[in-house]
Amino acid sequence: MSEQARVAIVTGGARGIGAGTAQRLAADGLAVAVLDLKEADCAATVEAISSAGGRALAVGADVSDTEQVKAAVDKVAGDLGPPAVLVNNAGVIRDNMLFKMTDDDWDMVMGVHLRGSFLMSRACQRHMVDQGFGRIVNLSSSSALGNRGQANYSTAKAGLQGFTKTLAIELGKFGITANAVAPGFIATDMTAATAARLGVGFEDFQKAAASQIPVRRVGQPADVAHVISFLVSEGAGFVSGQVIYVAGGPLC
Ligand code: NAP
Repeated sequence: MSEQARVAIVTGGARGIGAGTAQRLAADGLAVAVLDLKEADCAATVEAISSAGGRALAVGADVSDTEQVKAAVDKVAGDLGPPAVLVNNAGVIRDNMLFKMTDDDWDMVMGVHLRGSFLMSRACQRHMVDQGFGRIVNLSSSSALGNRGQANYSTAKAGLQGFTKTLAIELGKFGITANAVAPGFIATDMTAATAARLGVGFEDFQKAAASQIPVRRVGQPADVAHVISFLVSEGAGFVSGQVIYVAGGPLC
């Protein structure tokens, strides 16, 4: 680690996997910009980091909006320093069977996951190129392999794998790596919302999921944060263009 702490941006950092990742990267010694739709929603994550002795900044932005992304990355560069690490974690689900899926369901999911990761990566890469160092981690999903009721989401998450590999090829010569982490079932508000939509209690939903997972438990945000911590570390510079499933067992 250089003397000046590297700066990380974690999108969707207000809760779930993003909040867990922001806290982990801060504990690793990075200064962390916690970015989410509403700046006020980032307060709890920022407070958790600050009270543990870390440095964090709350940033409100919609990752699918070009101007908001530009302004957010400029703010991070001005207030914390140039970003060297980007975790494209912001996500939404709009699940439905194909015949019931609306244009808005499709566009919203593509907008946040694909356009959002594109805009954030494009805005951050020049800072990484200037530093001769960068780490980009995109949140894919086991749903990239196909999942009933998620034509939009599985397409976006599979698309992020191609995006990741292409960034790895284009940016490698500047000291920048790009990798994807593809979680299986992680206990967050997102999976709680899926349980609610299916009319199943969240505890029962998790028990049923755990029984199908080789390690016999569902994942927690810290499980994903641990892998991201490795991928953004200084020593992981020869690992790029990879998709790592974090799912408690093998997936193809
Ligand atoms: P979560 O608890 O729903 O958190 C997602 C966060 O992203 C929320 O704070 C949300 O803000 C924010 N967000 C949504 N749209 C945004 C936008 N346009 N701009 C900025 N921020 C936005 O989700 P999670 O379970 O932690 O998931 C995090 C990532 O992991 C997602 O990409 C998800 O697809 C992926 N993933 C999750 C699982 C799982 O089992 N949980 C599995 C595989 C992959 P609001 O609260 O304001 O909407």
